[in-house]
Amino acid sequence: MKFDDLIECTRCGSDAAYKQEVNEEINIEFCYGCGFQHNSLMTSGSKFMQEQLSVLPDLYKTLMDEEEESGKIWMPSYVNVEDKGMVFVDGTSRDNWAWAGVKSIEVDKSEVEKFKGAKYKPDMSTIKHFKERDYMEALSYIGVLPE
Ligand SMILES: [Zn+2]
Repeated sequence: MKFDDLIECTRCGSDAAYKQEVNEEINIEFCYGCGFQHNSLMTSGSKFMQEQLSVLPDLYKTLMDEEEESGKIWMPSYVNVEDKGMVFVDGTSRDNWAWAGVKSIEVDKSEVEKFKGAKYKPDMSTIKHFKERDYMEALSYIGVLPE
């Protein structure tokens, strides 16, 4: 990611979004201000969207927004970096949710089989919640972004 390519987020208005062109048809927008993402396959009723809806946790669906003019759908991000941790939305409704950061710890030798050879596992005792606009702090908390 290059921070000099940042653009304004059409969802939250912060200037911490970036846009990446995957190919001529597909581009991705990811906002570090609010933690939401959009890609050009995500439009109402599209095949990609139907697939997403069949696998996403309910809270992700609840928090999705469609922009009136552009039809762009924004969805909360999910970050999972094996040796660092996870950041995901945690809560019960649009009025009651937060980003949750959970750090990874090394899997103990005695548990290697249980975790199918994975070196790290989430340590739920480290869970910490962050407000929507503090998404970057959550990434810093698990060590994906510098403090
Ligand atoms: Zn945003």
